[in-house]
Amino acid sequence: MAGRILIVDDAPIIRLMLKDILVANGYEVVGEGSDGNEGVQKYKELKPDVVTMDITMPEKDGIQALEEILAMDEDAKVIVITAIDQREALMEAIRVGAADYIIKPFETDRVLSAIRKVFGEG
Ligand SMILES: [Mg+2]
Repeated sequence: MAGRILIVDDAPIIRLMLKDILVANGYEVVGEGSDGNEGVQKYKELKPDVVTMDITMPEKDGIQALEEILAMDEDAKVIVITAIDQREALMEAIRVGAADYIIKPFETDRVLSAIRKVFGEG
């Protein structure tokens, strides 16, 4: 059964790239959000199996959204996505409870290995 994934990123091109990779590999993208507030709201509505969460976003960043999602659902699986120069933010996300991380610019194989790991497939 296809895994249900929510993509949260303020950059439409990144959402599109992730969606293309995931759909081409048999995953179902059940929703998209463009900031942390939308990410939290859509998590509540859609109850996805996995979230990809950009860290740097307007309104509410990905770390705060991650904290709120984990407060709602301690079993939430959130993979954070961040630029290579955002090391401190990445460490904070891991400390808060991110399931895994992907560094931008990303390659297809790294995206899939993170998703498979979180789904227990790899
Ligand atoms: Mg961003």
